[in-house]
Amino acid sequence: MKPLSYTQISIYQSCPLCYKLQYIDGLKPKDKWYFSFGATLHLCAEYFFKVRVPPPPSLDELLDFYESSWLSEGYESAEEETKYRAYGREILTNFWQIHHPDFKMPLAVERMFYIDIEGVKLRGYIDRVDKLESGGLSIVDYKTNQELFTTEDLGKNLQLTLYQLAVGQIWQLPVERLTLYHLRSNTPCSCGPRGESQLEAARQLVFEVAENIARERFPAVENQYCPCDFPEHCPYYRQQYMVTEPELTRQGVLPGLIAAEAVEDYVSLQARIKELESQLKEVRQMIIDFCQTEGLNRVFGREHAITYKLLEKAGFKEDEIRALLEPEGLWGRVLSFDPAKLKQLLDDEEIAEDIRNKISTLRRVTAASPRLWVRRLIEEE
Ligand code: SF4
Repeated sequence: MKPLSYTQISIYQSCPLCYKLQYIDGLKPKDKWYFSFGATLHLCAEYFFKVRVPPPPSLDELLDFYESSWLSEGYESAEEETKYRAYGREILTNFWQIHHPDFKMPLAVERMFYIDIEGVKLRGYIDRVDKLESGGLSIVDYKTNQELFTTEDLGKNLQLTLYQLAVGQIWQLPVERLTLYHLRSNTPCSCGPRGESQLEAARQLVFEVAENIARERFPAVENQYCPCDFPEHCPYYRQQYMVTEPELTRQGVLPGLIAAEAVEDYVSLQARIKELESQLKEVRQMIIDFCQTEGLNRVFGREHAITYKLLEKAGFKEDEIRALLEPEGLWGRVLSFDPAKLKQLLDDEEIAEDIRNKISTLRRVTAASPRLWVRRLIEEE
């Protein structure tokens, strides 16, 4: 099996079918401006920190690099692209002003890794690894998300957990800090390292995803990103893309247009059923009220008669039975008050007869529900 990356694992977690379409069937996702924007800024952060010796690039050099690295794919209009291009310059200018004065050489920049987790190969690139004064390591991942990261986001971020596993294997030094660097506001959002149980859970997750992929488990799972770039291949959306050619329709399969009508029919029928059910309930209650008020057991229409009966269901009250059986040491035999077990006890000749008799005297109506039966008079005649 080919090595997995964090992105692949994350896509598989969101929707296994989407993973398959992209990474096994080779379908190409559409270009999106936010990927282009994020990739350009990543390249610039890499350019700034990846120097052989200090000093880092000047602001002009950084901005020149930015202009020459600009990725245009995915923007919806020239205006939108111009707006983000200016925004990116602003972000990088702040970035340079923050990091230039006390520039420290990182331990690694855009470091490729390739590690083994439970027999599964995991590969990826870590944006930056710094060596702290304590001798421990700090992992930094740049993000161009709109919103700042919360403590909860940081705590459950799988990417940072996997990077900690990778860094631990590569350098054999303790990881002491994990950071998601919010580029739009130039804010590092940091937390301490993952504990062993979280690392173990991540290893297990990688193993399970790899196993599911090997077993070709690719169900479509709807999620917050639906529809993805491949709706025409998805059972939740494909019907909208089906060509309607009745002559090609297989027997028993509804052609697109008929299916669309059937959906609407189904919904309107459901609404009508609901309305009819409510009317039926009203008429039923009227008949029951009439029978009860007049003391009738049958009412007649023109073609039908309806018989009314109050069906009584006999049973036992748990507290009464318990009060009787517990002192006799028999309560355990009907615990959780199972009427079937109580009946067995009643039939058990080893139980003292007077107890069984007392139980029988406790039998009473515990619920009553009115029922109606419809009968056609004309057919019978
Ligand atoms: S549209 Fe379908 S295939 Fe795409 S992510 Fe949603 S459920 Fe998965």
